[in-house]
Amino acid sequence: MGSRRNFIEKLTISAVGLPLLYRPTSLFAESVKPYEGPVLKVAIMGLGSYGTRVAEAMQSCQRAKLVGVISGTPSKVVDWQAKYNIPKKNCYDYGNFGAIKDNPDIDAVYVITPNGLHHDHAIGVAKAGKHVICEKPMAVNAMEAQEMVDACKAANVKLLIGYRMHFEPKTVEVIRMRKEGEFGKPKFFQGQSGFVIGDPTQWRLNKALSGGGAMMDIGIYSINGARYMLGEEPIWVTAQETKTDPVKFKEGIDETIQFQMGFPSGAVASCLSTYAMNYLDRFYLVGENGFAEMQPSTGYGPIKGRTHKGELDQPHTTHQTLQMDGIAGIIFENKSPIVPIDGEEGVKDMKIVDAIFLAAKTGKRVDL
Ligand code: NDP
Repeated sequence: MGSRRNFIEKLTISAVGLPLLYRPTSLFAESVKPYEGPVLKVAIMGLGSYGTRVAEAMQSCQRAKLVGVISGTPSKVVDWQAKYNIPKKNCYDYGNFGAIKDNPDIDAVYVITPNGLHHDHAIGVAKAGKHVICEKPMAVNAMEAQEMVDACKAANVKLLIGYRMHFEPKTVEVIRMRKEGEFGKPKFFQGQSGFVIGDPTQWRLNKALSGGGAMMDIGIYSINGARYMLGEEPIWVTAQETKTDPVKFKEGIDETIQFQMGFPSGAVASCLSTYAMNYLDRFYLVGENGFAEMQPSTGYGPIKGRTHKGELDQPHTTHQTLQMDGIAGIIFENKSPIVPIDGEEGVKDMKIVDAIFLAAKTGKRVDL
């Protein structure tokens, strides 16, 4: 898909080729004006599968630019330097990235390493005086997450979590409709998040690196989704765990958890998180006067959905491009996305994850 920047460049080129008399002035006034504001200079930490996706998406950003890397794999650094024109002085490893504090060419570091490393990596970045963008789940429990929030506050840097759906146009539209009362009072949310995980040796199935199984990785989308679709914070959870393959899913690595959440208004959510089933990427919101159904709801898109008013037809743009441009707006202009993506938002999800694990273990309702 052509990026906005490419679109503008194309417009500029074709417009230059037009005879002056026929130039559409309104088009020039509104569409061709190039972005002239500050550009967020970002280093990516962890050049894995998702880091690569973010790097590619950033090539279409207007307000954010990939300028550096932090990696433990020298061969990847060489590849990325060549591919993204990254100067040697902006390349670090996990041992020396504290020196980033003396590098004025980097504003922010996007931590895209395994979950269990986010805490130390994010705090290291904060101590180096750079803004932290951190992938979900922001940590492996609420205590670690809160320590990250505190460290970023102490260092006077922003902490933003990679909640890309908070910028996705169809999701934003459903949240807008909910906020404006178009569904009436929200009553029920159903979230289904899962896929069949492959390679049993990967870090996602290693408790020290992942902090848990499907819940940390994919179930967290249903937790976050329940909160932004219903517009409330849960006050209790119940949960039930099922494990069919205890060899692959060892102690502390959840395979499938069903969980329920109760909200102050009386609304309830019923969700499924799993590493053992495909075709599960669906949100369903019911209000007194309407509904929203999204499927896929949190994949890389295009997201599809409809409400009682009809199909959602907002255009698809690569999520991470919108997200990174949005993050530049938050950092430079103090803009607020429709639902926050700050560290406090991440802590809320981690508290719920902790409560779900406790509820699954004890079989009891856990109050939040
Ligand atoms: P990958 O395994 O593909 O990449 C992780 C990278 O982290 C590695 O390539 C490596 O990069 C670095 N790393 C540092 N230490 C370790 C270690 N001990 N073991 C393994 N890797 C290490 O994982 P993903 O990119 O899929 O996931 C990374 C993070 O991004 C996770 O927190 C995940 O939840 C999140 N994520 C978010 C998504 C979203 O849609 N928001 C989608 C997918 C993932 P290097 O060699 O450069 O050091």
